[in-house]
Amino acid sequence: MNRIEMTTPLVEMDGDEMTRVIWKDIKNELILPYVNLKSEYYDLGLEYRNETNDKVTVDAAEAIKRYGVGVKCATITPNADRVKEYNLKEMWKSPNGTIRAILDGTVFRTPIIVSNIKPFVKNWTKPITIARHAYGDVYRDVEFKVPGEGRAELVFTSSEGEITRQVIHDFKGEGVLLGMHNLNKSIESFARSCFNYALDSKKDLWFGAKDTISKKYDHTFKDIFEDIYASEYKEKFEAKGIEFFYTLIDDIVARVIKSEGGMIWACKNYDGDVMSDMVATAFGSLAMMTSVLVSPEGNYEYEAAHGTVQRHYYKHLKGEETSTNSMATIFAWTGALKKRGELDSNNELVEFAMKLEKAAIDTIENGTMTKDLALLLDNKDVNVVNTEGFIKAIKIRLESCL
Ligand code: NAP
Ligand code: MG
Repeated sequence: MNRIEMTTPLVEMDGDEMTRVIWKDIKNELILPYVNLKSEYYDLGLEYRNETNDKVTVDAAEAIKRYGVGVKCATITPNADRVKEYNLKEMWKSPNGTIRAILDGTVFRTPIIVSNIKPFVKNWTKPITIARHAYGDVYRDVEFKVPGEGRAELVFTSSEGEITRQVIHDFKGEGVLLGMHNLNKSIESFARSCFNYALDSKKDLWFGAKDTISKKYDHTFKDIFEDIYASEYKEKFEAKGIEFFYTLIDDIVARVIKSEGGMIWACKNYDGDVMSDMVATAFGSLAMMTSVLVSPEGNYEYEAAHGTVQRHYYKHLKGEETSTNSMATIFAWTGALKKRGELDSNNELVEFAMKLEKAAIDTIENGTMTKDLALLLDNKDVNVVNTEGFIKAIKIRLESCL
């Protein structure tokens, strides 16, 4: 069989532990036999990040800027235990954080839906994509424990020295205070990433904040979204037959629960933190959650939402059998190949990626799956396979449709 050719390289970022094991297997079994893969390889495994003083992560992010599309394996974010385990020179930062800071992107998380796993919300028949704004608010706040009686004020000193003051509260006793901020530039990037991704995936975009209560802070989010929509995206949305919908965050929550799904739900930082866990759980399994970082300039980085599945890796190292679900990592590859194919007008590549996705979904729908999914089914009459067995089963289905 002739392998599919590629014109532009994909930025490939390898990672750690069990997902590194899966990464190799996916490439060898499901990609390389069919695609003459052109990739620029960056080893983001913790050992090499340590060896390069984390320069490799920055290089990978720069490469995504150059080529436009990357695919990333899950990586360890070091903590004190990992510093010891890997004898690290430093507690290197989260690679995802570093890449996001360079690309200035928004993360979109979408569950992979299979017919035999029913979401907890029975009317959710289509995936819900959560887009979380990843800057500011409570994640970059300044907090203060008020020790007793006194006045708290909000003070702003302009660069010209002009001072504006507002009383927050006259405390009569102990209490708490916090100062939060956000940047119009960051909110604008977030809005553009969301609008672009909605156009890209042909899905409605919903956004909610609490503008009635927070008349300046949350209202600014609302205004920025509405202004950018009106001036840059309204016509494009209408041409694609999709909708931008703003309402209060509590109203959005109620509507999402009653909906059939299928929309992109843009969330402020905290809402996104909370709601992404709710949506992921309601759809079944973290192992079925895909993730893509989209920059306002239109660069894409695909990955699985889950981590390196450390517990399974330690079993694997001891020679024990594992049943790790590779779906989200496979979909990171297919997402990246599809996007690369679209940008290069390489239909063959797009079609191959779609066939691989279908083969993976069909495998599960026909009853062959890893343990995490088998546990979610009412009907236990399924073929539970190990890590390698699942990838082999997908390969057999893929071959039958090529
Ligand atoms: P995790 O790797 O997501 O795994 C947590 C648990 O979820 C696993 O122990 C497993 O449950 C289940 N699980 C996750 N993915 C699965 C899959 N593909 N198949 C089957 N089960 C799966 O999270 P973690 O253990 O908290 O983190 C491990 C490392 O990953 C950490 O060093 C962290 O820094 C890193 N991490 C990286 C990323 C990223 O690169 N994007 C994201 C999150 C975490 P059972 O053990 O019950 O089977
Ligand atoms: Mg969370």
